[in-house]
Amino acid sequence: MTSTTPVPPLATGDGRHDGFPPVREDDAFLEQAVSEAELPALLAALALVTGDTALLEDGVKPPLPPMDSTIAPQGGMSAAAQQRARELAVGALKAFRDGGSVPAPDPGPELLGAVMRFVTKDAGDEYLPLLRHELGLAGDLGAPTWHKDDTAPATPFSVAVIGAGISGLAAAHRLQQAGVDHVVFDKNPEVGGTWWENVYPGCRLDTPNFAYSYSFAQKPDWPDQFSRRQQIEDYLRDVATDFGLRPHIRFDTEVLAASWDEAEHLWTLTTRTGDEPPATSRFHAVVSAVGQLNLPNIPDIPGRDTFAGRWFHSSRWDPAVDVTGLRVAVVGTGASAYQIVPSVVGAVAGLTVFQRNAPWMLPTPGYHRETPPGMHWLLRHVPHYGRCYRFWQFWLASEGRLPFVEADPEWTEEGSTSARNAELRRQLLGHLRAQVADRPDLLAKMTPTYPPGAKRMTRDNGVWAAALKQPHVDLVTEAVTSIVPEGIVTADGVLHEVDLVVYATGFRASDYLEPMTVTGRDGVDLHESWDGDARAHMGVTVPGFPNLFLLMGPNTGVVVNGSSLFMAECATEYVLECLGELLRRRAQSLEPTREATDAFCAWVDEGNLRRAWGVADVHTWYRNRHGRASQVWPYSLVEFHRRTRRPDLSAFTVRGGGEETS
Ligand code: NAP
Repeated sequence: MTSTTPVPPLATGDGRHDGFPPVREDDAFLEQAVSEAELPALLAALALVTGDTALLEDGVKPPLPPMDSTIAPQGGMSAAAQQRARELAVGALKAFRDGGSVPAPDPGPELLGAVMRFVTKDAGDEYLPLLRHELGLAGDLGAPTWHKDDTAPATPFSVAVIGAGISGLAAAHRLQQAGVDHVVFDKNPEVGGTWWENVYPGCRLDTPNFAYSYSFAQKPDWPDQFSRRQQIEDYLRDVATDFGLRPHIRFDTEVLAASWDEAEHLWTLTTRTGDEPPATSRFHAVVSAVGQLNLPNIPDIPGRDTFAGRWFHSSRWDPAVDVTGLRVAVVGTGASAYQIVPSVVGAVAGLTVFQRNAPWMLPTPGYHRETPPGMHWLLRHVPHYGRCYRFWQFWLASEGRLPFVEADPEWTEEGSTSARNAELRRQLLGHLRAQVADRPDLLAKMTPTYPPGAKRMTRDNGVWAAALKQPHVDLVTEAVTSIVPEGIVTADGVLHEVDLVVYATGFRASDYLEPMTVTGRDGVDLHESWDGDARAHMGVTVPGFPNLFLLMGPNTGVVVNGSSLFMAECATEYVLECLGELLRRRAQSLEPTREATDAFCAWVDEGNLRRAWGVADVHTWYRNRHGRASQVWPYSLVEFHRRTRRPDLSAFTVRGGGEETS
């Protein structure tokens, strides 16, 4: 089955965007398409399209078994339930076609509620605001609740956004919606941030991509389940163009410093564009959207610079280098290495992979799978299906494996942190053993020694083990001790001769916001005050740094649930509401109190200590040199969503505008 339908534009409205061509295909075509569909989302969409809740009958409600190592296909529906669901879906599609493909009017709250309950197995009421936001059928619920022209038309106000990646573009869009003057600075010549920078072979998402896209810019035609980097970069370019964000972006412009002027209540930004001398500009507020993982961590191995061949960090991959016939070393076995190794193994003459800790691999058989053609057709022809599918993916991952990574203080079994974590461990080990049953040497090396969930797991469809089994590949677990012109020397004294070294050794996540200099009230330097332990109220605002807002800030990364894009969108919406408060009050500045920030961090720390990554004795980028997990969020997505709807002003000091409250 092929589809020649033109691709509809990004859906910018309520999900019923124009561009759904009428259904004209015959019954056999519809049956084939439905046979390739994700059924719970399809029934939900068809209920919205037809207005008929009878499609959501109890027998076809996805039972959603607990998410241990794998997600059950079709939400765990039995074969009989799937068969019945297909009959219902085909019947509804035929009726839709025969009625002229006219969708029912916008769904009211009752129908929306029925759909959400069907997909989520009766999620509690506390989820409803988040679910409405994500489903996006009741309008753009993340839009600012105010507009500058109504709130403070005569008040001069401008915002600098630093970074035009995932979170910077979200911020630019929301500022534009609110009618706020803004400039986006990016050191790169294009939008995309991490998706522009990481061009290593095999780079792709590890979050299902219908969920890894903006709630306000839905795309119905993702060709893969987990997009390749080029598709995400293209999507972000399209968002920048379609939403009119580009005129505000200053490309090739690095922000070197930001300094708060207390007398003027303004931030001064020092920027450098290309080779031009540094320039300054002033803004009332600064939104940092510099990302969390873009400062390469290149280990300081003795002799590193004496190496006679080429070397680079995974995120600085040189596309001009042809690895064909080369002897290649990959240092590290994290998420980046996991994608690079299988992608280059077929071309290289030799591949030596240096492993310090084996990664836990999460079974994901469809990791490289394309969206089946029938599903693709349905996404383009059935209004709401894309949104319902996104919602379905979102829901499956929203609390994800959080229950399986709990740390039980009473638990003593080695290699796990609780009974459910031990269960996850058993399942993941079974998955690993099945893949390397014929290679006990590899099984020993590939068996992780730390609890699952202590680090983000890699998405596994078998390509990693298959690559490591090849005769020209060597998985080395001896520690790297030095580098010489010919290659890498390990603790056992062996010299591994190579032509190219790739450092897939991760990022200096704890050096957050470096190398920028950020100076707040009373000349305080942000990095000095953090001293390697980044802290922010709600991950967004910092005491002593008025009108500074951080996206993908401290303690807002996710490990086993949801996607960072969701967290960035929530934080962006929160920032906009903070700015709205400033303008409504004609205030000059807003910053969190130290007490509120300390209380927030203590609460987050407490949560992290109840997660595998908080207690496991293993090196991760989540924890900084003080041992504190300063990068990740330990709680549910619904908790972050709830807390970021409106600023709790009792946590802030608001100055100026005739009002000073704290
Ligand atoms: P990473 O997960 O931090 O992995 C770094 C690897 O390098 C680890 O295996 C680490 O070993 C090893 N390493 C570090 N220093 C070393 C040294 N001195 N000697 C030997 N080995 C050393 O980094 P990453 O793979 O770049 O991924 C970072 C994060 O980026 C991920 O957690 C993920 O959130 C994100 N990411 C996402 C995707 C995606 O698919 N969307 C792709 C890539 C990255 P230890 O385990 O012993 O520390």
